[in-house]
Amino acid sequence: MKRLQRNLGEPAPVPEAGVHRAVEIMRGGWLTRYGEFGGEESEVAALERDFARFMGSNYALAVNSCGSALNIALLCAGVRPGDAVLMNAFTLSPVPGAIVHAGAEPMYVECDGSYLIDLDDLDRKAGLGAKVLLLSHMRGHIADMEAVTAICRRHGLILIEDCAHTLGARWDGTPSGRFGKFGCFSLQAYKHINAGEGGLLITDDADAAARAVLYAGSYMLYGQNGAAPDAEVFLRHREAIPNLSCRMQEVTAALARPQIGLLEERGRDWNRSYRRLAERFSGLDAVVVPERDPREDYIASSIQFSLVGLTPGQIADVIDRCASRGVPIKWFGNARPEGFTATFEHWRYIDPPRLERTKAILQGLCDMRIPLSLTEEDCGLIAEILGEAIAAVGTERCAGQAR
Ligand SMILES: *Cc1c(COP(=O)(O)O)cnc(C)c1O
Repeated sequence: MKRLQRNLGEPAPVPEAGVHRAVEIMRGGWLTRYGEFGGEESEVAALERDFARFMGSNYALAVNSCGSALNIALLCAGVRPGDAVLMNAFTLSPVPGAIVHAGAEPMYVECDGSYLIDLDDLDRKAGLGAKVLLLSHMRGHIADMEAVTAICRRHGLILIEDCAHTLGARWDGTPSGRFGKFGCFSLQAYKHINAGEGGLLITDDADAAARAVLYAGSYMLYGQNGAAPDAEVFLRHREAIPNLSCRMQEVTAALARPQIGLLEERGRDWNRSYRRLAERFSGLDAVVVPERDPREDYIASSIQFSLVGLTPGQIADVIDRCASRGVPIKWFGNARPEGFTATFEHWRYIDPPRLERTKAILQGLCDMRIPLSLTEEDCGLIAEILGEAIAAVGTERCAGQAR
């Protein structure tokens, strides 16, 4: 049987300009963004400047991860120990991690059949005392942002967007990250810009931006930031904010910066493969790929689909068969957390609520990475392998029933 030769774990490469700049920085030894005696603009400051311009935001701050950006956004939004923070139940572990890090308590919102936040459940829970919604555009799926922002307005919720998988994506023409008071982005190797690890935070609020810079650990050198408010804004906050040491270092910024200009091209490549896979998967027995809203201008660096009508044992079998032919598929219904894939029930440091709808959806939810280099032939072969695995499991199921 034919095997997929491409490694689906392959990250996006760093462009030559980034490699060159990183080496230059390392040779000089100027690895920290804050120089004590001035000098040239740091690479991190330049990244902040470029990113604020790209996003159309007043301010941008570079930090060491998206998780740090989320944590800092929560603190700047006024979240205090013991506060409840609304979040999607379907997300990645750094999200509840950031909330717990702030001393607050996650309040999960159910997931709907399109893998989006359940707006009815959000509306219901928004009245239960939380002041902040930390909304993940999980795996790049963007909910109806007009409806989300209307719910936030109605209940006086501050919106923080987790855009780890929507850098460069839009909803109805507006960039993802520009709906909330804060937008947070990841530069981790499997996100749209690959710097290994790293995060960016944007906001239009001057006081929040100054506080964020101070939390990230600017010491009194915030004048060297690339897209921060004027010095007088810092005077209001500079002795009131603890230094959490979440700075980005220079090499990270050097790797990331030239990738901003590649987002459009990468988005086209990812989406081309996504559409090929979605079309082929939709034609398979037992596979459902939810339709996406035409207002959602996504960048799909991965594909999600549901296996329906199969038992957990059969799904596990399908996944094993695919893996043995070089197609690793991640499964949110797995009883054990594996790799990057876990669900709210695995986060035992939080009392797990009953979320029947989310549980049912995660039970059949599969996830596959899309490397940029994927070809049309690869997409065809992947669909063939998945289809054959499902057929084999189906045949055994029938044989089992006949016996
Ligand atoms: C990757 C990711 C994060 C965290 O990003 P890090 O930079 O690794 O901290 C947060 N939320 C979602 C949905 C992610 O996919």
